[in-house]
Amino acid sequence: MAPILAADIPSLSLLYKLKKLDKAQTTPVAGASPRHNDRIALIRGDITTLAVDAIVNAANKSLLGGGGVDGAIHRAAGPGLVRECRALGGCDTGAAKLTDAYNLPCRNVIHTVGPIYDDPRPDRSEAALRSCYRASLDLAVQHGLKTIAFSGISTGVYGYPSLDACQVACDTVKSFLDQHGQKLDKVIFVTFETKDVRSYDSTLPLYFPPDTKTSVDQEKAAKDQAAEAKATASKLPDVPTTDPADPDPDHAQKKQKQNGEA
Ligand code: ADP
Repeated sequence: MAPILAADIPSLSLLYKLKKLDKAQTTPVAGASPRHNDRIALIRGDITTLAVDAIVNAANKSLLGGGGVDGAIHRAAGPGLVRECRALGGCDTGAAKLTDAYNLPCRNVIHTVGPIYDDPRPDRSEAALRSCYRASLDLAVQHGLKTIAFSGISTGVYGYPSLDACQVACDTVKSFLDQHGQKLDKVIFVTFETKDVRSYDSTLPLYFPPDTKTSVDQEKAAKDQAAEAKATASKLPDVPTTDPADPDPDHAQKKQKQNGEA
């Protein structure tokens, strides 16, 4: 499959214009605003096909590969990636490390270790997940990477409830952009399974609502932009309509979950 360029991944502004994303059903969170809508993007598909500056891997503490998105990234990158990872000495939960991307179309891979969801202590899981997003964004900025694509950290075999994880992702990215917005061009959320598509469709508008100002000039500008958006949309890649099968049936076993891991 041909790599998908960052510029071709639809921003929230475009998705709202195309009516592929609706405004929230409930009141947006305090401080929600449309000002980041050109910088936030959403796509469903395989993160290994994205030709962005950095993709974020939901890794395990060993950094030596596993199942799920980690397995897909290592398979697509080739053996150079695990060789580099071996020299990194693992990674703590909530932290992030950067490598080259080898055969992947992106420039770098950021490996972050999400929490195994702790049912009795959801506050601990939330703090660790927030730290994953924050550490990955910090690393991108430190290395001058402007476009970054996140997989749904911890929402697979690590069991973080999709909607809760999505809220943490949106909230952390919003806070980061509020402070350092100009340092990044695009933060892309990559969904894969239907549950995550639903979570992002309902949660993104709570944090990044559509712009509803309607002066006459703005309406005319919106019409012009809608025509432009329609033209662009005809060039967007098709999104899959069914859940992709995990090519690794032993995924859950291979994830190297360790007892006591946060
Ligand atoms: P974790 O152990 O952190 O839960 P998983 O790899 O099991 O990591 O799942 C993390 C997320 O990655 C899940 O939402 C899963 O649907 C998604 N995912 C799996 N494969 C891919 C892929 N090739 N591209 C993008 N996302 C993927």
